Amino acid sequence: MRLVRVMHPGYRRRMKKAIAIAPEVVGGTAAARLASAQALATAAARRGGHAPPTLIAVSKTVPAEAIRPFLAAGHRHFGENRVQEAQVKWPALRAEWPDVQLHLVGQLQSNKARDAVALFDCIHSVDRPSLIAALAAAMAREERRPALLAQVNIGGEAQKGGVAPADLPALLAQAQAAGLAISGLMTVPPADREPSPFFALLAQLARDHHLPWLSMGMSGDFDIASQLGATHIRIGTSLFGERKS
Ligand SMILES: *Cc1c(COP(=O)(O)O)cnc(C)c1O
Repeated sequence: MRLVRVMHPGYRRRMKKAIAIAPEVVGGTAAARLASAQALATAAARRGGHAPPTLIAVSKTVPAEAIRPFLAAGHRHFGENRVQEAQVKWPALRAEWPDVQLHLVGQLQSNKARDAVALFDCIHSVDRPSLIAALAAAMAREERRPALLAQVNIGGEAQKGGVAPADLPALLAQAQAAGLAISGLMTVPPADREPSPFFALLAQLARDHHLPWLSMGMSGDFDIASQLGATHIRIGTSLFGERKS
């Protein structure tokens, strides 16, 4: 079995949808894959009365040569989950496509905050006071201010990053005190449950705190997230195929 996370029925159901538009099935060019994912997201957003979300192509583990066709097709928003991997791949690609917008979607260690601030345009994983302090210091030194999203552990899962919903107000207050603007919220819902209640809860939290951005939805559930008001969806498998690791 190539999919690592296929064990839960809920996730399997969602991945079936993802794979229905995955490159192994659809084939086609980078442009065709992007268009098919964007069309699904746009239709779902319209059903929910929302604007089409920004599609972030999550290129973690994908080599630069396989990213190039997506850049050549005009796509500009890309996501990575590890600072070091992004440092290896992106400077050369960015030299060719300077208007690329890079999103960090994985957990960030405080000792990598400066590297992350130097490279990324948006950091989706702000989830604790020590990281807020490290990011504030890094932004001052780098004279660069990437957009920041607070990651919420919406399902209260022990193994997952993100601030508990109950601790979100304190985290936002800490960010404000440190002079950092938080633009929105990000989450990864539990893999073995229906995602819609979790997406709805994240949207409610964002409304409560007057935060405009909502980063939610992956290959298996980005249509549901788009219908519930995602402004940013993070799609890897449906664009690049199944990851080997
Ligand atoms: C890998 C990853 C994605 C993309 O997942 P797919 O299921 O391959 O679309 C999105 N968000 C985060 C945080 C990720 O780590």
